[in-house]
Amino acid sequence: NFKKVYNFNAGPAALPLAALQKAQAEFLDFNGTGMSIMELSHRSKEYEAVHNQAIELLKDLMAIPAGYDVLFLQGGASLQFAMTPMNFLPAGKKAGYAMTGVWSEKAYAEAEKLGEVFVAASAKAGNYCSIPAVEELQYDEAAAYLHITSNNTIFGTQWQNFPETGSVPLIADMSSDILSKPFDVSKFALIYAGAQKNLGPSGVTVVIIRRDFMEQANKQVPTMLRYGTYAKDNSLYNTPPTFSIYMVKLILEWVKAQGGVAAIHKRNQEKAALIYQAIDSSEGFYVGHAEPEARSLMNVTFRLANEGLEKKFLDQAKKEGFVGLPGHRLVGGCRASTYNAVPYESCQALQELMLAFHKENA
Ligand code: PMP
Repeated sequence: NFKKVYNFNAGPAALPLAALQKAQAEFLDFNGTGMSIMELSHRSKEYEAVHNQAIELLKDLMAIPAGYDVLFLQGGASLQFAMTPMNFLPAGKKAGYAMTGVWSEKAYAEAEKLGEVFVAASAKAGNYCSIPAVEELQYDEAAAYLHITSNNTIFGTQWQNFPETGSVPLIADMSSDILSKPFDVSKFALIYAGAQKNLGPSGVTVVIIRRDFMEQANKQVPTMLRYGTYAKDNSLYNTPPTFSIYMVKLILEWVKAQGGVAAIHKRNQEKAALIYQAIDSSEGFYVGHAEPEARSLMNVTFRLANEGLEKKFLDQAKKEGFVGLPGHRLVGGCRASTYNAVPYESCQALQELMLAFHKENA
């Protein structure tokens, strides 16, 4: 019995109620151990079972091929910006970055500190409202890797198809759209994602890495910054964030119960469509930031005619129980994050609010 809100936070974000309730039910006594999962040793068989189930569920749900490892790290996606070049950008090679928003810029800036980088494509000139066509990506066979940000959380754009990079390893920051749609993992050498949007709470970063790629990593990197350290000990070299991983397991079970990633994707399309329809039918009252062909199913970004009207809209939304709708501090406007666990009903309510507010303020 609590105040229900429509949670459109960008991350940490809404989690499935069923998973939260399961955690609540098990909170004080996990599986008859007489203690909370948080109080169990990470070397206990009870914890290890949870840990391994989380890995197996992710492999199953994402159809991760043999030859890949699923790792649990800390430091967020932000640490991955540095770890990827530390491990995979040797002297004499160059890494290519597709610039599609603030997070790509941050990834590029970290790599630039560690080695040679180049811009493979950039959508900056249009204020990141588009995604480069895969054919536009410029790199050659000698590149150390190509890095993309699959979904741009702040600008609300998303790659609709992924490049075929042949022998050049493809690395993706999938923090804000992992597990939101089916795709072919085998195109990628490495995928990373902070958990706090589609996978669970903050505190754990998931890495999916191709083993033969991992073996090419720089051997001089300190222990905790090497992917191999995590792979060798099943992400139990040191103490992992056990409670976050436990929550990831519960959320993956929920995804499975929803019918898996294909079913979740269909729902995500329906959810985002409700909000994009409100934008498109408004005759310019609401203006979407992303070009229609680059629209994200995870973060719907839009503006109103002026800041005064935007403030009025956001104030009214807040009064009616909508949370997280103001846009990122760097770009302003409005943003509705519609991750996997955001209910269809929340998106319906937002559509209704947008239509009513338009009518009242046209
Ligand atoms: N990449 C993307 C696409 C993101 O959306 C975010 C966080 N919003 C980050 C990286 C940074 O993640 P973290 O806070 O886990 O370091």
